[in-house]
Amino acid sequence: MENGLLCASAPGKINLYLKVTGKRPDGYHELESLFLPLAGVADDIAVDCDALPGAITVGCSDIMLPGGTNNIAGKAAELWAKKCGHVPHWDINIVKNIPVAAGMGGGSSDAAAVLKLLNGNYGDPLSSKELAEAALELGADVPYFLEPQAAIMSGIGEVASPLEFEVPAMNILLLSPQFPVTAAEGYRLMLPEKISAMDENLRKDILSALQTNDPEKLGKLIFNDLQPGVFNKYPILEMLAGEISANGALSVQMTGSGPTLFALFGDRKTMLQAQETLQGKHSDFRVFTA
Ligand code: ATP
Repeated sequence: MENGLLCASAPGKINLYLKVTGKRPDGYHELESLFLPLAGVADDIAVDCDALPGAITVGCSDIMLPGGTNNIAGKAAELWAKKCGHVPHWDINIVKNIPVAAGMGGGSSDAAAVLKLLNGNYGDPLSSKELAEAALELGADVPYFLEPQAAIMSGIGEVASPLEFEVPAMNILLLSPQFPVTAAEGYRLMLPEKISAMDENLRKDILSALQTNDPEKLGKLIFNDLQPGVFNKYPILEMLAGEISANGALSVQMTGSGPTLFALFGDRKTMLQAQETLQGKHSDFRVFTA
């Protein structure tokens, strides 16, 4: 189908653990992180292929986000057109459900969805390797979202080792305070002494707790190296984490560079009660389940 409307759901992610393992001379940090995609927290992407030749427009339900090729979804379309020698004619529309600049990879996921939609629609001119290379030009996390699945990501976040088992359903509550923390800020605030190799035994223990569906054990093992620095700058996050714990969470942690917090619960009923209480108390923040 060359014309018509292409649609996709672009999921967010959480970082179950995040270890910063190094810093490259170009300033990028190397990491090891267990990414879990959240199909229930997703942006809706539509690409209308009947736009005027030469056009790439981006409309978004979040009016604070940039339009056209300043939006990462528009950038993705522009890059794909350039690589494939295709004249663009696309009006992109995004219904934003993933909180913005919140450590959930929303922009990266939107970009990956656009790359996949266009490549699929025009007969896959880019191989999956070429598509992954194009994705990496847009951002370190974009390749992940070409095939979002539970995976340990390494490198600067672009090398995927998918888990060899199916992740059991978990009770995950998220709280997104409505202020942005960019990835750059999260890394800038990181205490340099955090940089070290991932402990292999810890990785094994985390994977085993995940596979055996033991949220209590899992909650005690997971960590995020970016969290102390971000919590230090934004003390409200530590306060909120305390409140979520007081409402029955087994563990509370920041995802990515924050500020979104995710909490593991032992059962759904306690999680939903906590959601109601916390949302009632913090009407300015978004409290939602994965
Ligand atoms: P990551 O965890 O990959 O760093 P994030 O979830 O913290 O990502 P995003 O929501 O992807 O952050 O947004 C990062 C910045 O990108 C925002 O400040 C926003 O202005 C810009 N941006 C451009 N296009 C988009 C888009 N489609 N969705 C979200 N942000 C976008």
